[in-house]
Amino acid sequence: MSSEDVARRLAQVRDRVATACTAAGRGADEVQVLLASKTMDVATVRAALLADAAARDAGSTAPPVLLGENRVQELVAKAPALVDLSPTWHVIGPLQSNKVNAALRWASAVESVADDALARRLSDRVRERDVPLDVWVQVNVSGEATKHGAEPAAAADLAARVAALPGLRLAGFMTVGARSTDERVVRAGFARLRDVRDEVVRSGAPGTGDAHGLSMGMSGDLEMAVAEGATVVRVGTAVFGSRPAPAAPAAG
Ligand SMILES: *Cc1c(COP(=O)(O)O)cnc(C)c1O
Repeated sequence: MSSEDVARRLAQVRDRVATACTAAGRGADEVQVLLASKTMDVATVRAALLADAAARDAGSTAPPVLLGENRVQELVAKAPALVDLSPTWHVIGPLQSNKVNAALRWASAVESVADDALARRLSDRVRERDVPLDVWVQVNVSGEATKHGAEPAAAADLAARVAALPGLRLAGFMTVGARSTDERVVRAGFARLRDVRDEVVRSGAPGTGDAHGLSMGMSGDLEMAVAEGATVVRVGTAVFGSRPAPAAPAAG
């Protein structure tokens, strides 16, 4: 995809977010756009960052885009080539414990914390730092077996334990919405994440005071997520076009 196409498509996504914010009675700049750059090459990601900077130079008040990678391998391959633009990277996929060190070299947030073991590992790694690491608890609101994330019923307790760990700042909650064409099902999942967030913030448990974030909504459902209170939408294909199909499993 050309740089012009990426710029045009990013502008369209910004328009969609702004329209959804207006419809929900929210301020247009309340929602950050995170670009999910998996499978995209450095040149394409760079084009998106430059287009974003240009839009803000031209008067856009939208907060800068964030970048998100699912796989640490891709993060460590791309991040060094983009340091001159100092983007903010989030890890948005399952993080194996042996990849934590590599991930934290580049990422300033991990959105995919779904169990105590990873949270403790992250805490051990960053507790000596001056600046806490932002973590988000990922919740599987749809119950789909293929999806990563804590069960909704267990998420609030997990979040309280995560929030209490040294070196971590609980920034909010993340989910991948239901894979459904029924708008009510998708919206109910997003509302569930918001309920978990509200419960945790209301609890007043130590470390939960900043946990207002809701990272939810992707290319196909961001309007519904904004309507349900998303503070970050994670967008891939709407900006970058379709990804190459995953390699078929080897025969036999
Ligand atoms: C790929 C991905 C996205 C973006 O998905 P699109 O449908 O391409 O917008 C968002 N979140 C996560 C966790 C992803 O893996």
